[in-house]
Amino acid sequence: MYKISLITGDGIGPELSESAVSVLNAIHDKLDLKFDVAKLSAGDKALAETGKALPDDTVDAIKNSDVCLKAPVGESAADVIVVLRRMLDLYANIRPSKSYPHMPALRDDIDMVIVRENTEDLYIGKEFSLGDSAVALRIISEAASKRIAKYAFESATQRNNMKKVTCVHKSNVMRVTDGLFAKACTEVSLNYPDIAFEEMYVDACAMNLIRQPQKFDVVVTTNLFGDILSDESSQVVGGLGMAPAANIGDDFALFEPVHGAAFDIAGKNIANPSSFLLSIKMMHDWLGNKHNDSKCVDVGKKLESTIFDLVKSGIKTKDIGGDKSTAEFTKHITDNL
Ligand code: ATP
Repeated sequence: MYKISLITGDGIGPELSESAVSVLNAIHDKLDLKFDVAKLSAGDKALAETGKALPDDTVDAIKNSDVCLKAPVGESAADVIVVLRRMLDLYANIRPSKSYPHMPALRDDIDMVIVRENTEDLYIGKEFSLGDSAVALRIISEAASKRIAKYAFESATQRNNMKKVTCVHKSNVMRVTDGLFAKACTEVSLNYPDIAFEEMYVDACAMNLIRQPQKFDVVVTTNLFGDILSDESSQVVGGLGMAPAANIGDDFALFEPVHGAAFDIAGKNIANPSSFLLSIKMMHDWLGNKHNDSKCVDVGKKLESTIFDLVKSGIKTKDIGGDKSTAEFTKHITDNL
């Protein structure tokens, strides 16, 4: 039995969490894989109620669990997820984008993953005022850059794809910080002679994600660029409602959808839970590989294929052209697992 800490979040977070718990219960009942789920509070609601966006007991419960699931949180996201990523040293943010049949994707042959450095860059939140200016510190270290580059090359080695790593940066303008990142990636690439390696400026990458997304395999990039490009790459294959993400460290991992709390659709029972459920699929992979538990990996595959079989048969939520509510789509999943 694996212990899951679940941050239920804000906006559409509670609806997605309800869907996730139903699916995890169905996995227990039908596929005999048990999870012990502890629901935790963090985010805007926690801030209003306790004065802390990330309460201490939530942090303690996460540290006592095998893995964390996080539904989106609202305005206080930086005080929750950015803090957790750094606190737990979850240095690799993995955001896959894959075209599946019957999805409103740009093309049907996209299968890429963005490997985003998760602990540095402008997201460390070191901002201050200086005279009439506002200043943000951008920190890029050689150690963190090499660590994420190694993760990207190892991912490329394991994927059944074209085996290419694209290092995305803007070193022609940010010569010192991005210059260091590009150099670190280039040095690591020398250890992987079987993996193709290319560099691309971030503006060119944004364009190429629309122009020829099928040419990407593994993209490795810094924190802010990765955040922006992964929203774009998710739209290329059908939108944020289908976009999962993993935050991975050496000993712990946290899984969450790419999107935010989507307050415009909160409480309407129309959010697509697939982004969160596909994150749970990634959780199965990680737990299964860590604990040498092939059953856990198989259950994850079953969850993914159930979602995509439903979508293929036209059973889908509004954001991807269907008419099912969050609860109805979830029920179809639990019935079909
Ligand atoms: P953040 O900056 O916190 O990532 P954001 O302002 O980019 O948030 P999101 O909450 O990520 O906004 O979502 C953008 C829009 O995409 C939402 O307003 C919503 O309409 C749509 N959207 C996001 N997630 C889903 C989902 N799971 N199902 C359906 N639509 C979604």
